[in-house]
Amino acid sequence: MLVTRFAPSPTGQLHVGNLRTAILNWLLARRHGGRFLLRIDDTDKERSQERFVDAIRADLAWLGMAPDGEERQSARAARHDARFAVLAAAGRVYPAFETAQELELKRKILLGRGLPPVYDRAALKLSEAEIAALRAEGREPHWRFRLDHDAPIEWDDLVRGHQRFDPATMSDPVVRRADGSWLYLLPSVIDDIDMGISHVVRGEDHVSNTAAQIQMFAALGAAPPVFGHTALLTGSEGKLSKRLGSLGIDHFREAGIEPQALIALLARIGTSDPVEPFADPEPLITSFDLARFGRAPARFDEDELASLNARIVHQLPFDAVAARLPAGMDARAWDAIRPNLETVAGAAEWWAVVEGPVACSPAEEDRGFLAEAARLADGLDWQGDPWRQLTAALQAATGRKGRALFLPLRRALTGRDHGPDMAALLPLIGRERAVERLSA
Ligand code: GLU
Repeated sequence: MLVTRFAPSPTGQLHVGNLRTAILNWLLARRHGGRFLLRIDDTDKERSQERFVDAIRADLAWLGMAPDGEERQSARAARHDARFAVLAAAGRVYPAFETAQELELKRKILLGRGLPPVYDRAALKLSEAEIAALRAEGREPHWRFRLDHDAPIEWDDLVRGHQRFDPATMSDPVVRRADGSWLYLLPSVIDDIDMGISHVVRGEDHVSNTAAQIQMFAALGAAPPVFGHTALLTGSEGKLSKRLGSLGIDHFREAGIEPQALIALLARIGTSDPVEPFADPEPLITSFDLARFGRAPARFDEDELASLNARIVHQLPFDAVAARLPAGMDARAWDAIRPNLETVAGAAEWWAVVEGPVACSPAEEDRGFLAEAARLADGLDWQGDPWRQLTAALQAATGRKGRALFLPLRRALTGRDHGPDMAALLPLIGRERAVERLSA
């Protein structure tokens, strides 16, 4: 069974970058009939907040990507301790006592000599007695994972292809702080093992973490999951701007962006497949394949999102939007107005045009024409196609055609120069209001 997880830290709102990771994990699970889990990475007690956990759940629900299960790292402290003890007994984690300043100095010295700033493993050389003495002084150690330098770390990445790292060029990663709190690396591996995670899809900023984590899986006696690291998301002017990186999903929701538009865009940018306005995610699921993702950054463009959104709104059936429409607006009105909308909320503006009043001060030369239109409109068969009847009769009576025929009518009837197809709009306005507006 294929099992993926989305593992946000609840230290802020989801933004488009981590939403993309959620979408890709969800699509991969759906594509293969697997499970998609939400794992709340809340080991950082100071920065994690319950309101962000709630917001993450609400965002996923709004997107129609409710997870098949939810886990919380903070509930698993005893398990993390137990697995850590196993690694300590095997010498795969070791205590280190350097202060941040000492480590920084070591780094600077190495960099100054033109060497990579790899941790020198001084702590590994401490004897039992030296460790006991340091602890007796009241110094608490932080803990590093001892990388095995004997063989290269390799994996076949679903996006990046074959990956190879030499562990001797990497620092033994710190996995636990002196106060006992965790860094992200090890609890994530422990949880991925216990939760049967088969595939980890995340951004390429995690590639070097993956190299270290692959050894952690082995040290804990487990096979690593399959990994896929996607290229990063950038804004339209390169690099995800501070603004985009800090905008929560609610920003898009409030701007009238449909969840389908976010999914359709984020599922396809950075791939060799076209971005298409899918109102239903099924085609995105069946075509999903991480091999189609490229190594170049994926460009997120808010204008592209807006136009994709409009094309999705144009497909939405009345039942899908009824609760968000103004009172009284029915399926016929929705179908008439929908092709002109950028957002569902925009329907209210056109419904107000239908219901009126509308303001228009016709040009002098159109007054007689409009009076004639009012007279003809009153006599039409409104069950048929009143717009076609009205314009045909007016053309015959006045000799006007094209813009001179249509524009004064549109202005008088709607108060605007542009808008939905008049043939669809006029029956909604109806005889009484139409005659009144034309004769005003
Ligand atoms: N909580 C980690 C993060 O948000 C999870 C990374 C991962 O997917 O393993 O970066």
